[in-house]
Amino acid sequence: MTTLDDIVSLCKRRGFIYPGSEIYGGITGFWDYGPMGSQLKRNLKNLWWKHMIQLRDDVVGLDAAIIMNPAVWEASGHTTAFADPLVECKVCHKRFRADKEEEMIAHTKEHKEAVVWTEPKQFNLLTEAYLGVTEPKQKVYLRGEITQGVFVNFQNVVDSTRVKIPFGIAQIGKAFRNEITPGNFTFRSREFEQMEMEFFIKPDEESGKKWFDYWKEQRMTWYRSLGFKAESLRFRDHRDDERAFYAKFATDIEYQAPFGWSEFEGIHHRGDWDLGKHKLTYKDPVTGEIFTPWVIETSGGVDRATLFLLLEAYTKEEKRIVLKLHPSLAPTTVAVFPLMPNKQELVEKAKNVYHQLKTDYSTAWDDRGNIGKRYLAQDETGTPFCVTIDFTTLEDDTVTIRFRDTASQERVPLQKLTEIIKTYMKEA
Ligand SMILES: [Zn+2]
Repeated sequence: MTTLDDIVSLCKRRGFIYPGSEIYGGITGFWDYGPMGSQLKRNLKNLWWKHMIQLRDDVVGLDAAIIMNPAVWEASGHTTAFADPLVECKVCHKRFRADKEEEMIAHTKEHKEAVVWTEPKQFNLLTEAYLGVTEPKQKVYLRGEITQGVFVNFQNVVDSTRVKIPFGIAQIGKAFRNEITPGNFTFRSREFEQMEMEFFIKPDEESGKKWFDYWKEQRMTWYRSLGFKAESLRFRDHRDDERAFYAKFATDIEYQAPFGWSEFEGIHHRGDWDLGKHKLTYKDPVTGEIFTPWVIETSGGVDRATLFLLLEAYTKEEKRIVLKLHPSLAPTTVAVFPLMPNKQELVEKAKNVYHQLKTDYSTAWDDRGNIGKRYLAQDETGTPFCVTIDFTTLEDDTVTIRFRDTASQERVPLQKLTEIIKTYMKEA
């Protein structure tokens, strides 16, 4: 069983994720993605964008600003309702979320004396910022969710493109929450990235049910296509007491993490709540009918999905640690090695291959140590292919390609290398 410590250690060692501002002692709830992690996250976002927008006829993209007019957050209800109930330990005054009983129980054990808790108090999660050079500065918020950027641009998108209901607006971007207890590595952070789509439909129960079921299925199928095993994921419908009162249906996609089943995408039927709050309507271009569309939302966490993909891919074998990431997600697609770093002809030939592959694929160069060690290093970052240039290459233009998952090797003509990789990537 992979532990969270396995992943934290791999992330640091191989350049996936570092603690934020580490040389100054770090800052709780913030993380920096290194060379490997930033590429993995980018690959994930590109696949999402392709699946949700490029391959569809009914979804368009958007990239709204992080800071919006504070009136948006007043209208959406976030300034008043976007809050967690907190309790405070009367012994040490540390605060905890009242709905996280396990954390409270764990904390109780840190004190010798009996812990008494205060009554739960609401604590707003919006992060404040101040704009302007003269006092009083204008108070604004770093967006607590990217969703509102879509709603406030609903009319703009309808007026400037050819979308007709049913249609969606999708977006990827950073959001901020003043979480009181960040934790479980990147799982609960104060700065995080979301990938969301708001799908606007006619306000009737039948199409609401139809599209909700459709997007549930779509989103689960997509995550499975990235390499999640069926038993690692599940739907969890919100109970009546946790579902927002305006939500007609709500379900989460959860991953079986070392710290328990954990949500990383929500599919929510939000009815007319959001557009209603902003007093936005839609005019049917054929019938002229004016109505407030209903919204089916798919809201995924980029950082959470990244963490879960790492957990899912991490494989400890007898002699190696392998990150069995989907080839399209792997930070490096192919690594090129000259058999020996001190033989000029080998290095030159290998450099040629390296530069040629680089135009199509994320390609790494490694000439350190022996070939075995290079394989182990590439396995740990999930590189699906390693190509070695040796003395035979100089004679007959063939190379050895080594496959990550099986560690098997094949001798192939250099000419066919790109094609072999391309075919393998498509099949995976
Ligand atoms: Zn305490």
